[in-house]
Formats: sequence, C-alpha cells, structure tokens
Amino acid sequence: MSTSAGRILPEVTAESRDFWTGGFDNELRIYRCRSCSGWFHPPVGACWRCRSRDVGPEVVSGRATVAAFTVNHHPWFPAFPPPYVIAAVELDEQPDVRLTTCLVDVDVDKVEVGMQVEVVFDEQDDVALPFFRPVTA
Ligand SMILES: [Zn+2]
Repeated sequence: MSTSAGRILPEVTAESRDFWTGGFDNELRIYRCRSCSGWFHPPVGACWRCRSRDVGPEVVSGRATVAAFTVNHHPWFPAFPPPYVIAAVELDEQPDVRLTTCLVDVDVDKVEVGMQVEVVFDEQDDVALPFFRPVTA
C-alpha cells in the first residue's frame, strides 16, 4: 500500500496487476475462467465455480449498472472532498461480478440504482483506478 496526494493506493500483486494497470491502456481487465467461461472478481488463482486454475485477465466492455450506492458527506480524506458517491456496480458481461468503486462526473442527487455507467481511469502513480461515470450517449 502506498499513498499519493493523500490517497491510499492499492497494493499491486501478481494476480491484481492487470486489474490495477489496465487503465493505462484504457482497458478494464477482469479475471475469467477458461474452463467454465465465468468471470470473477477480485482476481485470484482459481475459479470459485469449477476450481480450475486455468484463469486469467480478459478485457471487458467497461459498461456496468449501479446495483447499490451511498453518498458520503463526511470529509474523511483531504483527497476526497465530499460529497462523493461510493457504488457497487454490476458488469454488463456478468451481473454477479461487482466492483466497489466511486462514481465520478455525476450529480450526487441524480444517482439511482439501475443507472448505466462506464469505466474511466484515474491514474495515480503506478495504478489506474477504475471509476465509473454515467453513460451519456
Ligand atoms: Zn470455472
């Protein structure tokens, strides 16, 4: 774990490296099982469904749906001026694959469950944090 401008950044492991760095290539990379084709997150060395170890990162669309959210109004960290939205989003590829993330470029009063969002990357040191914003097109 390291910090950047007051932020606490994730520890990058062999298995999470593609997830945390894919954004430098504008790619959201999620682990997928090559045996049963299921996606899963967080990335680990075996599929929880079929126990295959033939798993690895693949690029997803970056499109997702807000499944749950909360609006934080407390100034916990200087790098995160409130209000901001913490959300669980379901990937379009497989809705039971959820990421906990922040919603950006959004009016906090307009966020709702079911909102369509797309990934954007916030580059901090050696990681590109996947955040999500409303789909505008
Ligand atoms: Zn599997």
